[in-house]
Amino acid sequence: MRLSPAVQSLKPSATIAAAAKAKELVAKGVKVYEFTLGEPDFITPAHIRDAAKKAMDAGHTHYTASGGILELKKAVCAAYQRDYGVEYQPNQVMISNGAKHSIHNVLAAMCGPGDEVIIPTPYWVSYSALVELTGATPVLVETSLESGFTLQPAQFEAAITPRTRLLMLNNPCNPTGSAYPISTLTGLAEVAVKRQIPVLSDEIYEKLIYEGAEFRCFATLVPGVKDLTIIVSGVSKAYAMTGWRIGWTLAPVDVTKAMDNLQSQETSNPCSVSQYAAVAALNGPQECVQEMLVEFRKRRNYVLGRLKEIPNIQFADPTGAFYAFFDVSSYFGKPLGANGKKVDNSSDFCTALLEDANVALVTGDAFGAPGYVRLSFATGLDVLEAGIDRIAKFLNP
Ligand code: PMP
Ligand code: GLU
Repeated sequence: MRLSPAVQSLKPSATIAAAAKAKELVAKGVKVYEFTLGEPDFITPAHIRDAAKKAMDAGHTHYTASGGILELKKAVCAAYQRDYGVEYQPNQVMISNGAKHSIHNVLAAMCGPGDEVIIPTPYWVSYSALVELTGATPVLVETSLESGFTLQPAQFEAAITPRTRLLMLNNPCNPTGSAYPISTLTGLAEVAVKRQIPVLSDEIYEKLIYEGAEFRCFATLVPGVKDLTIIVSGVSKAYAMTGWRIGWTLAPVDVTKAMDNLQSQETSNPCSVSQYAAVAALNGPQECVQEMLVEFRKRRNYVLGRLKEIPNIQFADPTGAFYAFFDVSSYFGKPLGANGKKVDNSSDFCTALLEDANVALVTGDAFGAPGYVRLSFATGLDVLEAGIDRIAKFLNP
């Protein structure tokens, strides 16, 4: 059958594809050291699961309002007031089927053919694909290892043209793990206000911050920036709730209304039971977030320590999220693993590593960063230890 031009060029999400490839091997009985998906390995905390069970038993099994239940919108507003001192009203909140869906809603509501969307690289795999789906053009701006992979305010300003519709910012960043320094973030907010450029601030890793880094909600940075900011976040990462599919946006009322119209046509509403679980996540005890963070911190420190022992790989220490993103290009053209295979790009590197050492990483090519690979450390220390042993052996056979 003939497919639409928009999907003909659409590739599957590289993170999901890499995980699927690893799972195929597992299904064949191979022990795979799996570091592909950015997904907490913890089960959703008990009080959140209980709230979902109660919601089902109370009969919350019907369609809800298209943009989400009022109770959850209020819980989102209360959480932003509590955590960041920023005031939002429920009519500025939209609940969607995961933060990925929220991003799609923002782009579909705001962008179209002829528009440009500025995306700093390395960027999360779905950013450019979702921009292209709207007919808009991604404008990729390269960030450097030296800057800790952060977009500099001057770079942002230089990329603005009369067609610029939006900046897509991801803080902390997937895949680099960079949590933006407040000064850089403030500089970006100043440029946004000066040039009146809306900013989609993807803050899904807001609770996962390490090593003296600090998180600031983009809407709070400078006067006037809140009216230009569309915050995207959700419960997936902070509360180990990836499967529940609840994300949200906080945005000016007109954008929120447009996204609500879109969602009412596309999906009716996010899952009713998951919405009640998300209310419990936001309104309930927050210790679970800190407990998981303690574990992530241990894993991060372990992974960094080990990677630093491996010669000739380069990376910026992740200060947020749960990814190590490192440059393996100095190993291109050299014999690798037991088979002595030579590769000349990150995708082939990942394939060889999987075939030779049964270690699954995601290629940097998918994040707009050739030469790099991404390791998710959202998995147990024992698996990390064995997996990194194998990576080290693969590099220096
Ligand atoms: N933004 C970033 C940067 C992500 O890494 C992810 C990972 N899934 C998402 C958005 C989407 O989150 P969700 O699972 O809630 O759709
Ligand atoms: N965001 C996660 C990742 O980057 C989950 C997979 C996805 O949604 O692409 O691995």
